[in-house]
Amino acid sequence: VKKANNADHLKKADQQYYFHPTTPLKLQQQSGPGLIIKEGQGINVTDVQEDVYIDGVSSLWNVNIGYGRQEMAEAAKQQILNLSYSSSFFNNSNDKVIQLSEKLAELTPGDLNVSFFTSGGSESNETAFKMVRHYWKLKGNPERTKIIALDLSYHGVTMGATSATGVREFDSMITSSAPGFLHAKPYLTDCEKGDTSHLDYETSIRGIVEKEGPETIAAVILEPVQGVGGINIPPEGYLKAVRELCDEHGIFMITDEVICGFGRTGKMFGVDNWEIVPDVMTVAKGITSGYMQLGAVLLKTDLRDELAEMSEDVFFHGFTYSGHPTACAVALKNLEIIEKEDLVGNAKRMGAELHKGLKYLEEKHKVTAKARTIGLLGAIELFADRENENGFDPSLHAAQQVVEECLNRNLLLRPLAFGGINAVALAPPLIVNKKDIETIIERLSEAIKAFE
Ligand code: PLP
Repeated sequence: VKKANNADHLKKADQQYYFHPTTPLKLQQQSGPGLIIKEGQGINVTDVQEDVYIDGVSSLWNVNIGYGRQEMAEAAKQQILNLSYSSSFFNNSNDKVIQLSEKLAELTPGDLNVSFFTSGGSESNETAFKMVRHYWKLKGNPERTKIIALDLSYHGVTMGATSATGVREFDSMITSSAPGFLHAKPYLTDCEKGDTSHLDYETSIRGIVEKEGPETIAAVILEPVQGVGGINIPPEGYLKAVRELCDEHGIFMITDEVICGFGRTGKMFGVDNWEIVPDVMTVAKGITSGYMQLGAVLLKTDLRDELAEMSEDVFFHGFTYSGHPTACAVALKNLEIIEKEDLVGNAKRMGAELHKGLKYLEEKHKVTAKARTIGLLGAIELFADRENENGFDPSLHAAQQVVEECLNRNLLLRPLAFGGINAVALAPPLIVNKKDIETIIERLSEAIKAFE
């Protein structure tokens, strides 16, 4: 009775006092929060009703090493006792931020050997945009400010990041986005054979660069694999073509590795799948597996050296929590775990199991299509209206309905319902085993079956 009362109190207090991020406010006001989670262990979370759920999306695709790790708690505790916080402004530093910068230089491809720290993905992208614009200004090209992003991309919610975001629901919140952000059409999700001839020149990155004039383009930003916009895996050769286009015109290539980074795709970074080295890479999420807030901008040494060479002034950009020692200590421990337990390799091996499972569902259910995975990042599309022979409520997204059925089967997944995409996303923690994947597929199958 006491527990039920507590759950009831929390629900009411949530409705009264808590403004949720990215949430239908009316629904929250009417029905209260979905789940109130209070514990996490391994790949499972437990809510205040004591129900246990498999977290099939690693929360916001970030809890890569799973929940409740003793070593992570120890690392945070020790660092808080040693030095809880210290600023890196005005040329100060701390031991943990230096160690983490050094570690990241080892892990990143090519000469992406310099790190700037933030508290998350949006701040990292915001920083990257400011850095490249600052560069062109110092270089004597102050008009070179435009940033090209892709439709269906997601880069975060701060002003620049939301303006770069190509999932229109996000930037339509505001009456006008920041100036200088342009959007190109992405590759098509079903173009997997390396044929990019279907790309319409006018709306391609190249078409936009040539129309606007390369001398006005500061950078191109793209996710190696689009996450929020549908788990859209680029066709073979696409990223390389973007790299070559950027090289041709001296445009910076920024890759947003906020989801892909640190093993999610079965490689340490998403770009490693195609052996591309961008000029700037933004990371967050998996850098700490969500145990602390941290993001980073990783840039080529040459770029940092040129910035230093061109001006003796202060680069007036930094967050209070840039290089937070506790966040950095937690990141170091997280990266140690990822390496020690070969979680990148596990993501590749278990990714193959996930692929098999989703392809099986695609065959088995008449309302599913286009299963796709890369490492432990996957999605399966739903056709709500195929022959009108199914039980989906046409007024709601089919993906949302399937995810709710999964919830009834103690499985947390995520609906992706933007820009014509109606898919269920899967991104389990990188620690999953074969049995876990089987359970996830079984529950998802049962959930889909409810609509047939
Ligand atoms: N970039 C990508 C690819 C993301 O998926 C996200 C978050 O989901 C972000 C940026 C924004 O990161 P944050 O929410 O940490 O600001």
